[in-house]
Amino acid sequence: MAQSLAAAARLDWIDAIMTAYNFRLMQNPEMQAAVEACHKAGIGLIAIKTQAAGPVAKWAGQDAKVETEQDRKLVGHFLKRGFTQGQAKIKVVLQDERFSSVCVGMENIALLRSNVTAVLHKAKLTHEDMVILKRYAEVTCSDYCAGCAHICDSGVPDALRPGRISDIMRYLMYYNNYREQDRARELFAQIPNKARNRLLSLDYGLAEARCPQYMPIGKLIAEAVAKLA
Ligand code: SF4
Repeated sequence: MAQSLAAAARLDWIDAIMTAYNFRLMQNPEMQAAVEACHKAGIGLIAIKTQAAGPVAKWAGQDAKVETEQDRKLVGHFLKRGFTQGQAKIKVVLQDERFSSVCVGMENIALLRSNVTAVLHKAKLTHEDMVILKRYAEVTCSDYCAGCAHICDSGVPDALRPGRISDIMRYLMYYNNYREQDRARELFAQIPNKARNRLLSLDYGLAEARCPQYMPIGKLIAEAVAKLA
């Protein structure tokens, strides 16, 4: 994404870009430079993936379970500040004036209300809030696939290129976090047999070693096969 955004900023015919951007991606200096370049070039930016959900079975949405100590700290901190963690994740992006809007999937009216409240709420996130989100991004980075498929592609055989691992992480995210089980299974079924049949027999050690998010790729592929095949 950072490379694509930086390239877009050098063109003179792009008015607006919808890009993934969230409290995790904003920690990446390359992404920051690319966003800045787009902004200076007068390109309107719209953020998607503000909640930064990933393939690891987690919580996203209002009724999601709070399972880990990190989750508890994040939720507790923002509740004391008067926001849900989901609202804070929207606010942190909209607080960045380089973004014109966020595009958020909402599965029910309660979530719509919560998100509208987050946008209309005048209070800004403080430096401490930003630090809390940054720390959370660091300690949970292996929950989130950043979509840098060229990196894990370099550690797997041709049958899984281009982008097959990154795709499977996305399908698992649809299943675990978006509750879109049918969609996840339909997409998984479109993987050619040649690649699908090898998924459980491959060694993902090299891809895992190169993954900047430290994702347990082999474990997640096995989970995807169990849930989606
Ligand atoms: S290298 Fe890691 S974070 Fe990047 S696409 Fe592959 S699995 Fe996802």
